[in-house]
Amino acid sequence: MKAEIIAVGSELLTARFQDTNSVFLMRRLEDLGLPVLRRTVVGDRLEDLVPTIDSARRRADLVLLSGGLGPTGDDVTREAMARALGRELVLEEAILRGLEERFARRGRIMSAPNRRQAFVVSGAAVLANRMGTAPGLWIEDNGIRFVLLPGPPHELEAVFEDHVWPRLAALRRGYGARRMLRTTGLTESDVEARIADLYPRTDDLRLTILASPGQIDLHVASFSERTEEEAAAQADRLASELAGCLEPAIYARTNDPLENIVAELLLAAGRSVATAESCTGGLLAHRLTNVSGSSAYFREGFVTYDNAAKIRELGVPAALIVAEGAVSAAVAEAMAHGVRSRAGSDFGLGLTGIAGPTGGTPDKPVGLVHIALAGPGPIISTGQIFFGRRADVKFQASQKALDLLRQALSSSA
Ligand code: ATP
Ligand code: MG
Repeated sequence: MKAEIIAVGSELLTARFQDTNSVFLMRRLEDLGLPVLRRTVVGDRLEDLVPTIDSARRRADLVLLSGGLGPTGDDVTREAMARALGRELVLEEAILRGLEERFARRGRIMSAPNRRQAFVVSGAAVLANRMGTAPGLWIEDNGIRFVLLPGPPHELEAVFEDHVWPRLAALRRGYGARRMLRTTGLTESDVEARIADLYPRTDDLRLTILASPGQIDLHVASFSERTEEEAAAQADRLASELAGCLEPAIYARTNDPLENIVAELLLAAGRSVATAESCTGGLLAHRLTNVSGSSAYFREGFVTYDNAAKIRELGVPAALIVAEGAVSAAVAEAMAHGVRSRAGSDFGLGLTGIAGPTGGTPDKPVGLVHIALAGPGPIISTGQIFFGRRADVKFQASQKALDLLRQALSSSA
């Protein structure tokens, strides 16, 4: 079985939109052990789309198309499919009635362009769309299967799960399983060095590493021709070997961002936190409050950018700033103590640094950030140089601060 994906949409050829539908489809096909051999992105023009379909049908036996099934003039996928296969577009009364009812339920009259969605390539099976108006289509032609799916991701996913997955499952070559490990605090080369011996040597087990500033994710994908359990066991084995080499840098085995994990730990421990930030400009407080229910543990946050604000709001001694400089371990620690006592919280995080790209000096370079965590135990303090653009430095500093809190909460648990 050779599968191809064609993502249709001129917006996907601009810098603004990403073709996430193909990523979803590739993941689901991987689960079935059906490899995707080619993926094409093509604009909404008949003269581009017809030859794209035509060439895919010469190579593949399964072609999945996303987008261009809507009511507007730029939605040409049905028409292109009909032309490429030399078939007619025919009105499907059942779809038309369904559309009319859908509009009537909302007290609206259906407009003429919506009728377009009731036309199908002759011979196609209609795949109902419970999330929207444009149904998907399943077409078989000379042993090749074509699947047309609506573009909006929640619609594509619904039609796929409801109708396409069950049909493809009959063609499955086996079973897939995936595991994920999210780490922070290690560099890509640290990770590489620790896990070098664990890289799988078979096609049925794969390890992919995705590094971004402040975070490295490890993705394990396994495949079994025989059973789902075998695939799962294989993935679990590799994931736990990797974990053995990377603990305690692993903060999640799900897609959750670090703030969600910190939130769970704070809630479980019944502890609260307050923040005093300089160079992150409130990013740390923003991330802590991105989690629903954060009022249970987040007390307050200060953005004390100016020295005077650090002195006034947090009680950082003026002499300390003069002696050590605003970007120093001593000031980060004083900020952490200050915010903890002012907020009456269990933990206080203090953070001061140089986000860049200007403002660095030879002994205090751009990217240098001091972070301190005051809590029930002794103060924890770290100074680090983060690389990257201004936003990367800010993110990494907030990530490190959250991680100090995570580690403190995990070790006291
Ligand atoms: P509609 O009825 O909404 O017009 P459609 O099937 O015609 O649906 P498109 O017009 O191609 O789909 O796309 C609708 C929207 O879906 C796009 O504006 C875009 O936001 C999203 N979309 C389309 N294709 C993709 C894709 N490959 N990946 C992610 N999002 C997509
Ligand atoms: Mg459209």
